[in-house]
Amino acid sequence: MARAVAGPEIERLVQLLARVPGLGPRSARRAALQLIKKRDSLMAPLAGAMQEVLGKIETCPVCGNLDVRSPCLVCADPTRDPTLIVVVADVSDLWALERAGAMNARYHVLGGTLSPLDGIGPDELNMASLAGRVRQPTAGGGTVAEVLLALPATVDGQTTAHYVTELLRETGVKVTRLAHGVPVGGELDYLDEGTLAAAIRARTAL
Ligand SMILES: [Zn+2]
Repeated sequence: MARAVAGPEIERLVQLLARVPGLGPRSARRAALQLIKKRDSLMAPLAGAMQEVLGKIETCPVCGNLDVRSPCLVCADPTRDPTLIVVVADVSDLWALERAGAMNARYHVLGGTLSPLDGIGPDELNMASLAGRVRQPTAGGGTVAEVLLALPATVDGQTTAHYVTELLRETGVKVTRLAHGVPVGGELDYLDEGTLAAAIRARTAL
């Protein structure tokens, strides 16, 4: 058995870092060492930033987003189109869509997808308030015109999309979903059959 090369406090730092998604034990060790070496320029500000966010983080009561203010920055932004609500499974999806910069919408974060096998039903997700949001007049006195379901292209994602569509049926709002297909820069040869079949079904005229 290898002998410990650092004290238990450092070992604990490595173990905690290894639990961050994307960091395995090896990367965690490397990250810990960098933090230790750059303790003034990196570790101290990082520890401070984490402490600050930890004390302020809240779940937005309107949309379910995570932010240090409530309502969140997205909900509080008056320049966003109030007539389009994009439904996402997770905050990471909201961030990804915002990085694409293709929409100026508001969001509704479900906090996961329906998964009967894992015991995740509608009550475990941020579902109940969605229909109410759609029915409510927007800030400008208009109405929500469209709900875009930007959910994962998985079985659970499809189940969730179906459920949300049924949930919103009585509101009469237009419900759309993201297209599935060939990724930008994607070689057809490398795509799986499911993606290719979806792209063929969703073909558009030029
Ligand atoms: Zn919000």
